[in-house]
Amino acid sequence: MVKKTKDGLYIKPIKKGTTIDHLPAGTAFLVLKIIGTPEDTITVAVRVPSRKLGIKDLVFAENKLLSEEQIAKIALIAPNATINIIENNQVKQKIRLQQPSEVKGLIQCINPNCITNVENIPSRFYIDKNGIAKCHYCERTMTREEYIARIRV
Ligand SMILES: [Zn+2]
Repeated sequence: MVKKTKDGLYIKPIKKGTTIDHLPAGTAFLVLKIIGTPEDTITVAVRVPSRKLGIKDLVFAENKLLSEEQIAKIALIAPNATINIIENNQVKQKIRLQQPSEVKGLIQCINPNCITNVENIPSRFYIDKNGIAKCHYCERTMTREEYIARIRV
């Protein structure tokens, strides 16, 4: 059973689980690394046409719910993504992600001399509206590209 979406794509909907939509193109593999385990059934669509984004990635995880931490990490990678929780072929809950303004323990500071990299202290960052993260401890800043590469997986 396949369904035609608004974007004109043919994808197999899942009966139960979690779908992640509106991922920027190229981010699905990192999302997979964050949420996937060898036991999961996950379908990934990469660089598919999107009216909203031009092109986008999609991830469908069957029979799987994401943890708060996994959702927080996805919000760092894709602040405008949408997470749908599916039950009995229906969207039971829609979560529209937002860029967090503060994150703790999810990313590693770019500064090798930062106290969070030297001692066992959880990292803490403030993220501004332009997506720049600033370390609470050493005040070094990172672009989204830089901190996405330093998400703890
Ligand atoms: Zn730091």
